[in-house]
Amino acid sequence: AAAPTPVREGLPPRREDLRGVDPYGAPQIDVPHLLNVNENPVGPSAALAEDLGRAVREAAGGLNRYPDREFTALREDLADYLAAESGIPAPPVASVWAANGSNEIMHQLLLAYGGPGRTALGFTPHYSMYPEYARDTYTDWVVADRGPAPEFALTAEDVTAAIAAHRPDIVVLTSPNNPTGTALAPDVVSAAAQALLPTAGMLVVDEAYGEFRRDGVPSALELLPQFPNLVVTRTMSKAFALAGGRLGYLVADPAIVDSVRVVRLPYHLSAVTQAVARTALAHREELLGKVDQLRTARDALFEHLRERGHLTAPSDANFIYFVPLLHRAADRHQVWQALLERGVLIREVGPEPWMRVSVGTDEDNAAFRTALEEADPR
Ligand code: PMP
Repeated sequence: AAAPTPVREGLPPRREDLRGVDPYGAPQIDVPHLLNVNENPVGPSAALAEDLGRAVREAAGGLNRYPDREFTALREDLADYLAAESGIPAPPVASVWAANGSNEIMHQLLLAYGGPGRTALGFTPHYSMYPEYARDTYTDWVVADRGPAPEFALTAEDVTAAIAAHRPDIVVLTSPNNPTGTALAPDVVSAAAQALLPTAGMLVVDEAYGEFRRDGVPSALELLPQFPNLVVTRTMSKAFALAGGRLGYLVADPAIVDSVRVVRLPYHLSAVTQAVARTALAHREELLGKVDQLRTARDALFEHLRERGHLTAPSDANFIYFVPLLHRAADRHQVWQALLERGVLIREVGPEPWMRVSVGTDEDNAAFRTALEEADPR
C-alpha cells in the first residue's frame, strides 16, 4: 500500500459531510478470473474491434470540434434497439437520454429531481452507489428491506407500504436487483408508480441487467405509456460488453429528459463515446447472442451451487448471490481470500454471509467451481 500523503498546512478543508469518506470502488486486482464487478467476460470479436477502430478513427478527424451535444443519432439507435429488445414501439428521440454510464444517468436524475428537503427511497440490499448519488446531491436517502433470503422478493404490498411510510419524492427499484439478482413482476412496478402518482413522485426502475432476465419476465419499459412519473434506466456496460465504453441511458417522458438536460454538463458525451456506442449497437446481434450464452451459463452455475448445498438466490442477472456452505466453518472474508489465492476474484457485498459471483466464460466458471470445492474440503 502507498504511504499516506502527508497533510500540508493550508490545504482547503473538504466539504464537511465528505470528510473521512473513501471513494467507492471494488478492488481492481490482476488475477486470471475477474468475477467481482458483473462485467461481461467476452470482449469484442475481431470484426467488432475492427469496426470500433474504424469508428474511432473517423471521429478522430473531427476532435477539434465539440461533439453533437444532443447525440441525436445515438438516441435514435438506442430507441430502435429498445423496440427490438423489449417489443415496445420505438420511443421518440425526445424520450431517450444518455450519459457516461447509468451511474451518470442516476446522478443527473438526482441533480434534477432530488436536492435539499427531498427524499429518495431504496430497498436493501441494493446497489452500493445509490446513497452516494443522494449524498452528492444533498438528497435524503431512506431504505426499506426486501423480503427474506434467499428470494429477496419485493411485493406490491411491500413497496406501497414503504411509500406510504416515507412519502419519498423518488423511489429506486432495481430489476434485476444488484446484488440479489431478483427481477420484479410488472405488478410491483405498476403498484409503485401508481402509489407515487398522487404526490407526483418519480419511480426510477434501474434495468442495468435487464437483458439477462429470464424468458417471460417483461421490462418496465412496457409501462411507460401508462405512467408519466416512470423512468427506466439501462446500460451498455453489461449486455453490450461495453463497461469500458461508458454508456448508460434512460427512457422517460420528454419533460423529464428536458429537466435532465438542464443539469447535464455541456458536451458530456464525447464524440469517441458516441461513435463507440453506435458501433456496438450496430453489432447487437452478435453481442446479444453472447447474452443468451451467459444466461444459459448462469442457470447452470445456479444449479451447480444449489446441488452442492450452497444457499443460492434465484437470478435474472449475469451474477449469482450465494452463501458458501463453507461459511459454517469460516467467515465470508476467509472464503473470498481462499478463492483469491486460487486466482478467482468475487465480491463480498450486502448482508453477511452473502457473496456475489459474476458469471464468466466457461473457463472462469470452472475455475470458480474448482476453487470453491478446494476451499471447502468436505
Ligand atoms: N445500476 C446497477 C444496479 C449496477 O449494478 C451498475 C453497475 N454495477 C450500475 C447501475 C452502473 O453501471 P454503469 O455506470 O456502468 O452503466
